[in-house]
Amino acid sequence: MLIGNNEYQVVSGGDFKLDGGAMFGIVPKTLWQKLRKPDEDNRIQMATNCLLIRTPQYLILVDTGYGTKMTDKERAIYGMSGVSLIDDLATHGVKPDDVDIVILSHLHFDHAGGATVTDLEGQMYPAFPRARYFVQQGEWDDAVNGFATMTATYNLENFTPLMDAGALTLVEGNRDICEGVGVAVTGGHTRHHQMIKATSAGETVVFAGDILPTYSHARGPYNMAYDLFPHETMVQKLQLLEQAASQGWIIVLDHDPLATAGKIVQEKPGRFSFEEIALN
Ligand SMILES: [Zn+2]
Repeated sequence: MLIGNNEYQVVSGGDFKLDGGAMFGIVPKTLWQKLRKPDEDNRIQMATNCLLIRTPQYLILVDTGYGTKMTDKERAIYGMSGVSLIDDLATHGVKPDDVDIVILSHLHFDHAGGATVTDLEGQMYPAFPRARYFVQQGEWDDAVNGFATMTATYNLENFTPLMDAGALTLVEGNRDICEGVGVAVTGGHTRHHQMIKATSAGETVVFAGDILPTYSHARGPYNMAYDLFPHETMVQKLQLLEQAASQGWIIVLDHDPLATAGKIVQEKPGRFSFEEIALN
C-alpha cells in the first residue's frame, strides 16, 4: 500500500504459538480467553509480522521473525508453522539481495532469528547480504550479556554473525536511520526495545514491536509476562495509543495473526479500539 511516498507491506516471519497466560501477564484467563481462544495446551496462535518499507531511496525490512535455525524440538514447543520470511519475501518479489536496511526492534529470537542463516557447513552469515542492520547499543549489550528472564530468548547465533560480518550498526537513543524513517526507544519489553516510525508526506506508520503485540493488548494492564518492565510498557503503550489516535497513525502489530495493521480510536480516557487496515 502506498502511503505518502512510501510503499508498505506486512510480510510473515512464520507463525507460532505462545502460552496465553504468558501473553497476557496479570490478566486472568477468564478475561483473556474471550479475546484469544487457547488450544488444549493453553497456547494461543501468534504471528511474526515484519514490515517492508519501500522509500524512494531504500528497501527497508523491520524485524525478521524466528528464522530457519530452530531445532525440531523448539519448533514443536512453539508450534511453529507457516512460511519462512525468505519465502514470503519471494512471493512479494523481494530477494535477500534487494534489502538495503534491516531494523530490529530488539534481539529476542522471534524478531532477530531471521537476521542470520546457516550454510551446509553450519557457518552463520547475514540473511540479507547487502543490508546494513540497526539495533540499539543497549539492546546489544543486554543480549550478549544475557540480561533476560527467559534465558533462551537471546541466541548469539542470531546476531553475532552480523557483527562479525561488519553489517551491524549500534545506535544510541532516538534517531533517524534514513530520511523519514527513525527509531524511538520505548524500553518496557526489554530495557532498550525500540519502535520504528516512518513518515512520508505527513502520513505516519509505526511498527510498535512488543509494546503492542496484538490489538487485544490495547489496554493499560494487558502486558506480557515476557516484559522485563511491565509498568514501563504500560506507560509507553498508552502514550503511543493516544498519539496514534490523535494523529491518525497506522500501527503495525508484530504478533497479531488476526489483524496486522490499523488505526487507533480513543473511545474514552484509557480505552481504545482498533480499526484494521490491510497494508498489502
Ligand atoms: Zn516478540
